[in-house]
Amino acid sequence: MLSVLDIFRIGIGPSSSHTVGPIRIAKRFVDSLTKQNLIAHTGKIQVKLQGSLALTGKGHATPKAVILGLMGLEPETLDPQNADAQLAKVLIDKSINMGGVKTLCFDPETDIIFDYEAAPDIHPNGMNMSAFDEQGQVLKQQMYFSTGGGFIATREQLEKPLQDDLVPSGTHVPYNFGSAAELLAICKTENKNIHEIIFANEDSYRTRNETETSLDRIASVMMNCIDIGLHTECILPGGLEVKRRAPAIWQKLMASPQSNEREQLFDWLNVYAMAVNEENASGGQVVTAPTNGAAGIIPAVIRHYCEGDQKNPQNIRKFLLTAGGIGLLYKQRASISGAEMGCQGEVGVACSMAAAGLAAVWGATPLQIASAAEIGMEHNLGLTCDPVGGLVQIPCIERNAIGAVKAANAARLALHSAEQMKVSLDQVIETMRQTGLDMSSKYKETSQGGLAVNVVEC
Ligand code: SF4
Repeated sequence: MLSVLDIFRIGIGPSSSHTVGPIRIAKRFVDSLTKQNLIAHTGKIQVKLQGSLALTGKGHATPKAVILGLMGLEPETLDPQNADAQLAKVLIDKSINMGGVKTLCFDPETDIIFDYEAAPDIHPNGMNMSAFDEQGQVLKQQMYFSTGGGFIATREQLEKPLQDDLVPSGTHVPYNFGSAAELLAICKTENKNIHEIIFANEDSYRTRNETETSLDRIASVMMNCIDIGLHTECILPGGLEVKRRAPAIWQKLMASPQSNEREQLFDWLNVYAMAVNEENASGGQVVTAPTNGAAGIIPAVIRHYCEGDQKNPQNIRKFLLTAGGIGLLYKQRASISGAEMGCQGEVGVACSMAAAGLAAVWGATPLQIASAAEIGMEHNLGLTCDPVGGLVQIPCIERNAIGAVKAANAARLALHSAEQMKVSLDQVIETMRQTGLDMSSKYKETSQGGLAVNVVEC
């Protein structure tokens, strides 16, 4: 079993697969050179971006991510402002200090190659890392894949078959589950709700106190991201000239907070989700939930329903543990990568997770929580990924707002039903997986179809 803290990773925007994953890959490669005593002999580093990383890497800030990773920075701890300054220095000096150990000549224009022709075979987000000695001989070469949500894997790791739908993590947990049916059966046998089962599993990784501290930190980064997004007015980077809209909506709402209850529900969820995704599009600090592109949905729902007067850290932890548990099912049984599944694998999964988390906070039974998650995905099936200009802006920002509203609706619908649902969570996850596999690559984070080809960039 993976941990829910693998699902919620603190990082920087705009993309978990194209930014967070590549930072981690570049850092891991440099660490491996250090470990194998190769770094002192390294004279040149070359990075080849393949598949979706090549096709939308420029708009998703992948070259910047590669440079930060080579410098030894980590997504969880890097300061976005400071990182920009360090990046600017590399671009001017055309040299890079690798992991604080060795300085090399490095020209991003020629040493980061957009390998449009190569079609990575086992995952669409391929990244080939090579180190050469001073004479140009290969010292080490490794193919990595950025598999969505900031997860990374080598070719060897990806080729390893799954065991009973479980991604092996090397940690023994008390409650192994490879499907929603198994999770619900455990809940029934143990007479516990989903968040209690997940919490017990998390105890195998670290102390309960440490897990609580990490969950609280995740929630605090999410809320901080909303606050920054609500108060930052600017045009988003990348050339599409998209203006941040959250601050103006926020000011309007604050001017008459109780004007109309029915409209307000949508307005609040919209503004919180957009604040996060506008911040993400600016390269700010966000939490993968389960990805950066879909990072606004869970924070928006938490902010509206679990913060303010109703604030209770236990509820927020319950939300995150439940949502994280549902996210693990998608990660294990399908994928949370837009490049593999289209946007149903990002916004669809986030909506499903948020619906489950909210249902749990509202006192739902395990079956109702699974039903909320199922509804949250069922009405996102077939959602394509077609970002205009390869940027995580259109349709991504609004899509998170719509996803947050849909999640609240899914949780409400599930709470009104006490019976066994007709479509199970496992069935909808499998449907998403099959739909994602059938979807043309034009609609899977390549910007070769959909809005990306019908909206003219100015
Ligand atoms: S369209 Fe969806 S999957 Fe694609 S980049 Fe935007 S949020 Fe991510």
